[in-house]
Amino acid sequence: MTIRTRFAPSPTGHVHIGNIRAAVYGWLFARHEGGQFLLRIEDTDRERSTPEAVRTVLDAMEWMGLTFDEEPLYQSMRMPAHLAAAEQLLAKGLAYREDKGGTGKGEAVVFRMPGTDMAFHDEVKGDLRKKAEDMKDFVIVRSNGTPVFHLANVVDDIHMGITHIIRGDDHVENTYRHLALFCALGAPVPKYAHLPMIINAQGKPYSKRDGAAYVGEFRDKGYLPEALFNYLALLGWSPGDDREIMSREELVRAFTLDRVRSAPSQMDLKKLDWLNGVHMRALPRETLEAGCRAVLERRALWPVPGGLDYLARVVETMGERLHFFTDIADHASYFFTEEYVFDEKAVNKRLKKAGAADALRALSDRLAALDPFNAQTTEQALRALAEERGEGAGVLVHPVRVAVSGSSEGPSLFHMLEVLGKDRVLARIARALEKFAAE
Ligand code: GLU
Repeated sequence: MTIRTRFAPSPTGHVHIGNIRAAVYGWLFARHEGGQFLLRIEDTDRERSTPEAVRTVLDAMEWMGLTFDEEPLYQSMRMPAHLAAAEQLLAKGLAYREDKGGTGKGEAVVFRMPGTDMAFHDEVKGDLRKKAEDMKDFVIVRSNGTPVFHLANVVDDIHMGITHIIRGDDHVENTYRHLALFCALGAPVPKYAHLPMIINAQGKPYSKRDGAAYVGEFRDKGYLPEALFNYLALLGWSPGDDREIMSREELVRAFTLDRVRSAPSQMDLKKLDWLNGVHMRALPRETLEAGCRAVLERRALWPVPGGLDYLARVVETMGERLHFFTDIADHASYFFTEEYVFDEKAVNKRLKKAGAADALRALSDRLAALDPFNAQTTEQALRALAEERGEGAGVLVHPVRVAVSGSSEGPSLFHMLEVLGKDRVLARIARALEKFAAE
């Protein structure tokens, strides 16, 4: 049997990460099993399902690399098939017509629940069951003649030959109705895997109020699709070992439904940021540089002397500090301009402090005499001077860092000095002395 999974979003204009994670799991499962992954657009709500809303779904899938087999199925085109199925159920006595509410506005078609307890095995949640008395007959075609979600969803899953339904656990309750419909329509019952929801730190459903929640927002914030894919795959599933950084191919190889966790998955944006940095640094050098350069251009920090070679050295020096392309401008702008911003706290603590100016002057003299001027020689010079002065290296390290970068945080100081180069370092120390150390 060929495994066939599907993603069946209702276009709303946004694709929540909970939904795209269901698509990621459906995709991974199908690819792992050598099966097919299909797309069905559940666009029966004509008001919400605008062409732009459908476009948003397709864009999100494309950006995430969720390739689907076959043409997408548009549910709105399938109304005749949904109504035919309702007729079939009426003919078999498995559904009946009723004037709901007795308004005289026409009759709805109501599906007759079998009247027995129902049970199914969920691939994630285990054995689930519901008592007959807790399940009522339900409308499948409204009195205005339009099919209801449950009917359309099941008829289309049958039509598409779906073998595994992987979706959010907000649909668990619907599943009993769906199972009854599959049976009544004489179709084999698919397997179900209901995914736990994504929650925030308070254990509530993760929403826009907690941070980025839609695929488009993550894209606009500069997350890489491979990082979000990796993150969502591991948010609720684990490979059974302690791997956290996984490529798409590794995920396909490792993915099975039995390791999907049944407990809710807590969103951890810090971890996602970290993963984004990991994936960013793993990009081919040209892609990484192009991404950084585009940001620098937008912020008027480019071009600079030294061009791409210089940029490559900055990227290397920043190393793990870069999580996003934008970090190059947000956290390393001092590499690209003399107009870098001084952090007031850092200035007060490190440059306006008694003795700081004296220390900086002495260091500046030593640095001026260096040839070559690199990470090693600057470090040696600074440490030798500290020792002569009978002080810890920090007394020199902190003021010089703030003087040349405006900040008390950053990459290795000596690599930073090397990349900036002797002339700029000396000029910056001199300016900082003039500006801040007025004793
Ligand atoms: N359109 C439904 C949703 O977005 C589909 C549910 C399902 O996957 O069966 O929740």
